[in-house]
Amino acid sequence: MLTLSPSLNADLHCHSVVSDGTQTPEWLAERAHANGVQLWALTDHDEVGGIDRAAAAAAALGLPFLAGVEISVTWADKTVHIVGLGIDHTQPALIEGLRRTRGGREERAREMARQLEQVGIPGAFEGALRYVGNPDLISRSHFARYLVEIGACADIGEVFRRFLTEGKPGFVPHRWATLEQAVGWIRDAGGMAIIAHPARYGFTPQQEHALFSSFCQLGGQGVEVVTCSHTAEEVEVYHRMALDFGLYASRGSDFHSPGESRLDLGLLPPLPSGLTPVWEHLGHRVRMPDGASATLSST
Ligand code: AMP
Ligand code: MN
Ligand code: MN
Ligand code: MN
Repeated sequence: MLTLSPSLNADLHCHSVVSDGTQTPEWLAERAHANGVQLWALTDHDEVGGIDRAAAAAAALGLPFLAGVEISVTWADKTVHIVGLGIDHTQPALIEGLRRTRGGREERAREMARQLEQVGIPGAFEGALRYVGNPDLISRSHFARYLVEIGACADIGEVFRRFLTEGKPGFVPHRWATLEQAVGWIRDAGGMAIIAHPARYGFTPQQEHALFSSFCQLGGQGVEVVTCSHTAEEVEVYHRMALDFGLYASRGSDFHSPGESRLDLGLLPPLPSGLTPVWEHLGHRVRMPDGASATLSST
């Protein structure tokens, strides 16, 4: 039995080699379990190809699991990430939508490499490709690893300060799914849509308010309050936003790699008190290892 209390050590956001993480779904399940995670989700970018492996590994370890995904969205000409949790990852409309969302990544990557070549970094497409676990999903993270490998930057953070972001060499804008599509696919697959790492988008308060309003109107229900890239102040800002918009609160490390990620799986601060965690609403979607059920705590 799993008690879905607010203090549960839930880690509901991470990436495997199926998108831009460096580790397998099985490695992640073991690490989550070893670090005391009590409810785990794999949320690869625009891909559900790792879910069966993650679910099997979690079951073997006795670790309750939610199927997840992180969908790339273009909203107000910026990229926003929407996490879906508790999805039926075999749902055809979701699979087709994700396939279309992934489309064009290779062309984008070739253009990124062309731009990098112009600033004296040749061979970046081939170099990035050596880090790619899934040929459908060449991402900026793979380029970042290559730029660190060749010594162009000291670490991943420096890459995203000097390259690959708006106004810098190697940035190629891309049109992802719409917010309506992403929320719709997640809901139609029985899951909950959640705004990922909201502090990272650089929106004005007005834009942010518009994003949250549209998201709620479309049927989105959650926001990531605790995640590796949020400062204590940002946690407080999105604590408030969750209450103002009546959203469930999520908690996830956004772990990509042991060498790169700021926070290891499960080693996150707790959700602030007074919020309703997403897992209180997702008990019926949790895959329990022994077929037992997840129950809501009365405390
Ligand atoms: P893409 O989907 O190809 O645009 O790549 C986006 C990925 O790049 C994100 O999911 C992160 O893993 C990574 N990323 C973006 N910005 C940063 C940053 N400032 N520091 C580290 N990783 C970043
Ligand atoms: Mn990523
Ligand atoms: Mn993200
Ligand atoms: Mn992520």
